[in-house]
Amino acid sequence: MHSDPATTTSRCLLLARIYPSPLLPSSQIAPSQRAFIPSAAWLTLSAAGMASEKHFKYIILGGGVSAGYAAREFAQQGVKPGELAIISKEAVAPYERPALSKGYLFPQNAARLPGFHVCVGSGGQRLLPEWYSETGIELILSTEIVKADLASKTLSSATGATFTYEILLIATGSSVIKLTDFGTQGADSNNILYLREIDDADKLVAAIQAKKGGKAVVVGGGYIGLELSAVLKINDLDVTMVFPEPWCMPRLFTADIAAFYEGYYTNKGVKIVKGTLAVGFDADANGDVTAVKLKDGTVLEADIVVVGVGGRPLTTLFKGQVAEEKGGIKTDAFFETSVPGVYAVGDVATFPLKMYNELRRVEHVDHSRKSAEQAVKAIKGKESGESVAEYDYLPYFYSRSFDLAWQFYGDNVGDAILFGDSDPSSAKPKFGSYWIKDGKVLGAFLEGGTADEVKAIAKVAKAQPPVADIEELKEGLQFASKI
Ligand SMILES: Cc1cc2nc3c(=O)[nH]c(=O)nc-3n(C[C@H](O)[C@H](O)[C@H](O)COP(=O)(O)OP(=O)(O)OC[C@H]3O[C@@H](n4cnc5c(N)ncnc54)[C@H](O)[C@@H]3O)c2cc1C
Repeated sequence: MHSDPATTTSRCLLLARIYPSPLLPSSQIAPSQRAFIPSAAWLTLSAAGMASEKHFKYIILGGGVSAGYAAREFAQQGVKPGELAIISKEAVAPYERPALSKGYLFPQNAARLPGFHVCVGSGGQRLLPEWYSETGIELILSTEIVKADLASKTLSSATGATFTYEILLIATGSSVIKLTDFGTQGADSNNILYLREIDDADKLVAAIQAKKGGKAVVVGGGYIGLELSAVLKINDLDVTMVFPEPWCMPRLFTADIAAFYEGYYTNKGVKIVKGTLAVGFDADANGDVTAVKLKDGTVLEADIVVVGVGGRPLTTLFKGQVAEEKGGIKTDAFFETSVPGVYAVGDVATFPLKMYNELRRVEHVDHSRKSAEQAVKAIKGKESGESVAEYDYLPYFYSRSFDLAWQFYGDNVGDAILFGDSDPSSAKPKFGSYWIKDGKVLGAFLEGGTADEVKAIAKVAKAQPPVADIEELKEGLQFASKI
């Protein structure tokens, strides 16, 4: 039998308040946890061996972007105190992850928590750790789940605690692909860094400070590589980007679009080495990286190496227990998986993308927010008998670096038509691209647009207007304004 969540929580709280634990002095509890008494109380009790199982009606596994937006939606839908817990291996309450490769690394006025807790990234209320306690949502931080048994609805943590639930929301996101995974020689040297979580960003900040004016090599030419190269340059490091493809960000950019960014970065002093791979690293006697060896024989000196070569959705806990598709956990249009009562959102979900009548997995922050809200609406809708519309998502992705900002909507398939001023030396470059397939415009990209212009290209990607003469698209934003 499961214990009643509210009773267990209040009993824990009471005990923790009356008997401060000799095992866990408050100085040993992270500040973020100290701000939230219930999880500290839980840690105290589990360390003392007094309680090893907790039951919640709803558990969100993962404490990232989706988790935060799901919590807000649960609160809006009237979740009762003690019904919902978020379990996260991170030590802080959910925050807007994209800040880590942007403002968090600025040399001045850097973004720091609590400034970018969710939901500020979409212009919403900032959910501070206190918000969770005031709302009766239990934040169980610094807790990694190492086993999930969907049949018995039980999650087990690395420290042996168990959590049972009625409804589970999987929001575990992605992990970075490491060069050590491929056995790349020297890849375990010090100062070869990755970026996914706030702890990684802190390591990067420390390395930037320790290696002032030094040389940084960024391995990978995707959006993380581009954003990190820019911010390392802003920190006055000597930056070289290395990637094997013929141009940067090939999954989205055409050669024309990439030429602009590569030109702009070069003008800013970032060196770009294309068409080759990092195959090994040299280190000094302390184990600190000193050089990156490339496949073409080049050796680049390096004080810091940052690797951004992609991510993998974190689905391993559920292997064999739930249907998978395209590398993610397969869901319906309400983000329910093949196991009733188990939902998957954000980076891990492979869901029906209604507009394209296709199952897709999307690793973008906008989708993580919206999928989380949709899943919670569906969960609460099932309980109340209210119907919820199917998820109808328009893919949206953005990036910012230096003084640049681009947005993309839709699908980058078919022929691409460039418009506008894409000269990297222009004082105010503004350009874009449409993608056209089978006579319809399916995707739209814009660099340097105003809020209204961005809205206009989003409308194009959503409406998928037919175009008889491809020349029409060269009108650029004027074309969008007619839709
Ligand atoms: C540095 C960076 C910059 C980005 N910038 C952009 C951008 O500019 N634009 C854009 O569209 N997208 C961007 N993204 C992508 C976007 O942040 C992700 O798509 C989004 O965060 C996915 O949300 P999520 O909730 O699925 O996963 P996450 O936000 O990654 O959250 C997953 C959470 O689950 C926890 N977790 C995982 N496994 C366990 C476990 N076993 N036990 C307990 N906890 C666990 C993790 O610790 C983490 O807290 C960026 C991503 C990164 C890393």
